[in-house]
Amino acid sequence: TSGLMQGKRGLIMGVANKRSIAWGIAKACADAGADLALTYQGDALRRRVEPLAEELGAVAIGHCDVTDIGTIDTICDNLRSHWGKIDFVVHAIAFSDKDELTGRYVDTSRDNFAKTMDISVYSLTALAKRVEPLLSDGGSILTLTYYGAEKVMPHYNVMGVAKAALEASVRYLAVDLGGGNIRVNALSAGPIKTLAASGISDFRYILKWNEYNSPLKKTVSIEEVGDAALYLLSDLSRGVTGEVHHVDSGYHTVGMKAVDAPDI
Ligand code: NAD
Repeated sequence: TSGLMQGKRGLIMGVANKRSIAWGIAKACADAGADLALTYQGDALRRRVEPLAEELGAVAIGHCDVTDIGTIDTICDNLRSHWGKIDFVVHAIAFSDKDELTGRYVDTSRDNFAKTMDISVYSLTALAKRVEPLLSDGGSILTLTYYGAEKVMPHYNVMGVAKAALEASVRYLAVDLGGGNIRVNALSAGPIKTLAASGISDFRYILKWNEYNSPLKKTVSIEEVGDAALYLLSDLSRGVTGEVHHVDSGYHTVGMKAVDAPDI
């Protein structure tokens, strides 16, 4: 992939640490020659993200908390003065109260429903609107989703509903921005042990279940997600938009696992 992203400039949102999916994507892009700008959420993460950006020769472009839309505007202003235009954007952001990522979906509170949708869904649309003028030569926007959007997964609850709305947003945004040759896609990653995932109840069991039941008999790594992201962010996927691409060891294809005792 060396040279694939040479001359391309991208914004990456959602790096919290080296286990973040956004970090796997950032690393893959940097290795392929891209110039990157990373945002961080608040001062605590600034101290973590600044050295990570430096490691990739990237710039830490500023604080962004998507609940404060003004911070997205500021990031776009910073990008405009730093580069003028950009070529791709990665949105790897989600949040829900962990007290509601357990038990029954039916118990979701109105407040957390709204907060989860605001941070995990609306933020992509708010971001797309604001980066559209920066993607002036066309480009690629990528978000992260999960199979819990399509099927009921234990404890995923309101986040599954949010991811379903996120995937629908990808399709609507793909149509809205397609005329400007801006593509919008999602990667549906299999479960990976990250900070965000640690809020989901029984997450270790979910990892094991995926390992035992996916066609490839393993869970995925942030490097594998990063390499798939490279395809969706680069010109290799110039004919692809509005797509949800699974990077989950094939788990989503399995209806029922075969057993060795077919005497039922
Ligand atoms: P992570 O904790 O490393 O990253 C989550 C990021 O969201 C953090 O950088 C955090 O700062 C950011 N964030 C949360 N609220 C924010 C806000 N209000 N404003 C700005 N940023 C905010 O975890 P991750 O697993 O790498 O998550 C990245 C994305 O991947 C999420 O959309 C998540 O739903 C998705 N995803 C994760 C998995 C998994 O198993 N880990 C699987 C599929 C999809």
